[in-house]
Amino acid sequence: MILPICRMGNPILRRVADTVGREFVLSGEFKILLKDMENSMRHYGGIGIAAPQLGISKQIALIELLGVNRYGQEINLPLSVFINPKIEFLDQEVQGFWEGCLSIPGLRGYVKRPRKIKVNYMDEIGQERELIAEGFLATVLQHELDHLQGILYVDRLETSKELSYQEEYDEFILNKEKSID
Ligand code: ZN
Repeated sequence: MILPICRMGNPILRRVADTVGREFVLSGEFKILLKDMENSMRHYGGIGIAAPQLGISKQIALIELLGVNRYGQEINLPLSVFINPKIEFLDQEVQGFWEGCLSIPGLRGYVKRPRKIKVNYMDEIGQERELIAEGFLATVLQHELDHLQGILYVDRLETSKELSYQEEYDEFILNKEKSID
């Protein structure tokens, strides 16, 4: 099932989502929810999705990066499920990327985040896991996991001058950045 996307302004995006118990993760109900989240993410063309974006206030996020190229860096992360994630910053250095969000369609904003992180989480079979990520993947993780805490990327803009419509980003910003590469 494709679930409707909740957009900015919907209060569910501003709540700290409920943590999920292992019993729920092992239930048939969870498997259906996960399939719905995966189908919805693919349908809307996201590289990640968090349950609150689909109207479900639970700490579950999905990320899938396959051959994604950002700034000359190719990143691959097979479909991964992050339940009750906790982030630790491993590097004080920050890096900026132009982020977009299915809940804020048509816009992009430049957000600086720590460049290296460690995430502890439960996976889709109820096992505790740890992932160390850097670069673009670290930003994608922080963006998705922020959704579980009621935070949107626009909250993390240093200035509203670095918020752009997608078309204007393509025309005025993307090409300029390409020439820097
Ligand atoms: Zn988002």
